[in-house]
Amino acid sequence: MIEKRMYVDGQWVDARSGKTRSIINPANQEVIAEVAEGGREDSRVAIAAARRAFDQGDWPRTPANERGALVYRLGELVAREREELARLETLDTGKTLEESRWDMDDIAGIFKYYGGLADKDGGESIASPVPDSSSTLVREPVGVCGQISPWNYPLLQASWKMAPALAAGCTIVMKPSEITPLTTIRITELAQEAGFPAGVVNTVLGEGAEVGAELAESPQVDLISFTGGITTGKQVMRAASGNVKKVALELGGKNPNIIFADADFDTALDYVLNGVFFHAGQICSAGARVMVEEPLHDRLVEALAQRIKRIVVGDGFNPDSRMGPLISAEHRDKVERYVEVAQREGANLVLGGRRPEADHLQDGFYYEPTLFTGCSNDMKIVQEEVFGPVITIEKFSTEDEAVARANSTIYGLSAGFWTRDPDRIQRMSRALRFGTVWVNDFNVYFTQAPWGGYKQSGLGRELGKMGLEEYTEVKHVYQNFNAKPLNWFGA
Ligand code: NAD
Repeated sequence: MIEKRMYVDGQWVDARSGKTRSIINPANQEVIAEVAEGGREDSRVAIAAARRAFDQGDWPRTPANERGALVYRLGELVAREREELARLETLDTGKTLEESRWDMDDIAGIFKYYGGLADKDGGESIASPVPDSSSTLVREPVGVCGQISPWNYPLLQASWKMAPALAAGCTIVMKPSEITPLTTIRITELAQEAGFPAGVVNTVLGEGAEVGAELAESPQVDLISFTGGITTGKQVMRAASGNVKKVALELGGKNPNIIFADADFDTALDYVLNGVFFHAGQICSAGARVMVEEPLHDRLVEALAQRIKRIVVGDGFNPDSRMGPLISAEHRDKVERYVEVAQREGANLVLGGRRPEADHLQDGFYYEPTLFTGCSNDMKIVQEEVFGPVITIEKFSTEDEAVARANSTIYGLSAGFWTRDPDRIQRMSRALRFGTVWVNDFNVYFTQAPWGGYKQSGLGRELGKMGLEEYTEVKHVYQNFNAKPLNWFGA
C-alpha cells in the first residue's frame, strides 16, 4: 500500500485534520494508496509558503538560464522514472499502459522544452516617440500560481502548468484531482530531488470544493490555472474575481470529426476510432461527434461497427487491452444517463450502450464502446460532453451545413475534418470556430503548439511559447536620458 503526504515549504506533511483518503484502482476497485486529505487551512499554509518563496526567496530573481536548467533536469528525472510513472498512472486512471508511457514521454519533453525556453526572451525594445529616451518591454513572473488539474490526464495536465510556471520564475501550489493524485505526488518528489528551493513547488491534496476553492479565492494567489469541467471552471472564475487574479481555464469540448465523401476512407475510419476510444473517451478533445457526408454514411457505419466489435476492453496492464475502464462508478452512471437520454430522444443504438458482461470485468468501471446513428444537432448527447466511449453519427449534405452544425455548440476546443479538396481545406480551416483544427488527422497535439479553447472551452492557452507567456506580466520600462523641467506649473 502506497502512503503519501502533501508537500509544503519543502516538507512532507499530513493534513492538519489528520484525515486521509483511499485511492482506488478503477479496473478492480482495489485500494492502491492512502493519501493525506487536506482542507482549506492546508491550502492556506501552502499559499503562504509559495508567497514567501516568491516575495523573499531567490527563485524569481534567479537567472533564467539557471531556472531553465532545473526545469530541464526535472524533465530528465521524468524520463528516468518513465516506467514507474506510467505504471502509477495506469493504476490510478485505468488507461492502458502504452497510453501512459506516451504521456510520460510527452511530459519529459514538456519540462525540457520549457527548460530550454526559459532564457530565450530577453525583452523587447520598442521605438519610443520621445527623443532621447528608451522604451523596453520586459516579462516578469506573475507571482504565486494556484494550479488545479483533472483526473483524465493527471500528470500530463499538471505538467502543462508546472513546467512553464517554474520556467517563468513563479512559485506554485499544485492541486491534483483528489481521485488521481499519485503521479503528481511522485513528480513533486522528483522536483525535490532536482533541487527546487523550499516553497517554490508545493503540492496540496484534497477536495476541489475545499483545497481548490481556497486557491481560487485567496487574495495571496496571483494567478489561477484550472483544467476541468465547465461548471467548475465558471466557479473558479467567479472566485478569482475577488482579487482580480489572472485566470487560465482549460475546460471541456464537443469536438466534431467531419468526414467528407472524398476523404481517404481507411485513414479517416481509423481516426474516428482513435478520436473517441483512447482512454475510453475521457479526453477533452475526444472526437465523439462524428459528422459524415451523406454518400459515405452507410459504408462508414458498417465499417465502424466491424472495427468496434473487435475492441478489447480490459485492464490497462493487459497488453491486449485497447480500452480500460471509466474513472469511477459516478462517472459511469453519468455516461449511462446520457445513453438513456439519447435513446429517448430518438438516436439509434447500433452497438454497446451497456456494461460488458464478461466475468473478469465485473469489478471495474467498464463500459462498452458505443455507437449511435441517426443523431441530430438538438440532441443532448450531441451538444453536451459525455466524456465516455460513445460515438454519435450525424449525416450532412453540404459543406455549409457541416460548418454551421459543427459550430453550433457552446464549446470551441478542437475540430477535425477529412477531405482531399485543397480549396475546401482552406475554407473549412477558417470557418471552424475552434482553438485547434486538424486537417486529415485527429487528436494531435504537441508541446510546441498552443492548446486552448474558443468560446466556453476556456480562456488563455497552454503549451508553446504562449503557454510560458501566460505566467508572465509585461512591464514597460521607459527611460528619459535627457530629462528637463517642463515648467507647466511655473518655474
Ligand atoms: P472537475 O471540474 O470535476 O475537476 C477538476 C479539478 O477541479 C479537480 O482537481 C477538482 O478537485 C477541482 N475542483 C472541483 N471543484 C472545485 C472548486 N469549487 N474550486 C476549485 N477547484 C475545484 O473536472 P474533472 O471531472 O476532474 O475533469 C474532466 C473535465 O476536464 C472534462 O470536462 C474535460 O473536458 C476537462 N479537461 C479539459 C482539458 C483541456 O485541455 N481543455 C484537458 C483535460 C480535461
